[in-house]
Amino acid sequence: MLVVKDLHVSVEGKEILKGLDLTINKGEVHAIMGPNGAGKSTLSSVIAGKDGYEVTSGTITYEGEDVLEMEVEERARAGLLLGFQYPVEIPGVKNVYLLKAALNAKREAEGLGEIPAPEFMKLIREKLAFMQMDASFLQRAVNEGFSGGEKKRNEILQMLVLEPKLAMLDEIDSGLDIDALKIVAKGVNSLRNENRAVLMVTHYQRLLEHIVPDHIHVLMDGRIVKSGDKSLALELEAQGYDWLQEETA
Ligand code: ADP
Ligand code: MG
Ligand code: MG
Repeated sequence: MLVVKDLHVSVEGKEILKGLDLTINKGEVHAIMGPNGAGKSTLSSVIAGKDGYEVTSGTITYEGEDVLEMEVEERARAGLLLGFQYPVEIPGVKNVYLLKAALNAKREAEGLGEIPAPEFMKLIREKLAFMQMDASFLQRAVNEGFSGGEKKRNEILQMLVLEPKLAMLDEIDSGLDIDALKIVAKGVNSLRNENRAVLMVTHYQRLLEHIVPDHIHVLMDGRIVKSGDKSLALELEAQGYDWLQEETA
């Protein structure tokens, strides 16, 4: 589904990704772990096409297409979606309008018409209930005054409504208490199916007890230095990242 080859990316003239390789197949959940500043957010931002990142060499291919040739909107419509691809707070724009606009853009790309209002409300109510979110959420401005946990739930809600083929979730467990973590995990798990994939950045092994990834990768100093299954997360939890630094040096 997604193949990243020898990707080099600079931000403001500084090289952040230094030859990153990653392959994600349909149906898989990949977790990226690694120390602060390693380039984890840069990776998903570049795949999604955010501004400010310069790809100096390497390739990103999605379902055979050259992602780097695609506009941001094209990428989203093709099913590559990064959580919160809009500014973190959009004063005055209600959540419900944003979700509806995003869903209609996707439907348009698929040759479908606008979703009828009753159908949209039915869908959204079902997803809200699933995420244990109150309907009042819809009337609030996008992320304005949301707690960390509410932002994350909202991000997953967006994913459940838009059903991207590749959902990218950055810092998925930050700011979540145990209950919110379980709900977020339930949401992510419900996205899993044979046609979709998930790329998520996480810091804690704890989350991986609830979302068992098919692959775990350690991103350090701009490259993936180690990949493994869920046992790698346990090893990292016990030993930190220093031993890998030594191993890869
Ligand atoms: P991670 O998500 O792994 O913590 P990031 O991808 O956010 O790391 O950042 C990697 C490096 O790139 C850091 O050193 C960070 O300071 C730098 N960086 C990221 N975005 C920018 C930016 N917009 N301007 C300048 N430096 C940036
Ligand atoms: Mg290289
Ligand atoms: Mg980050």
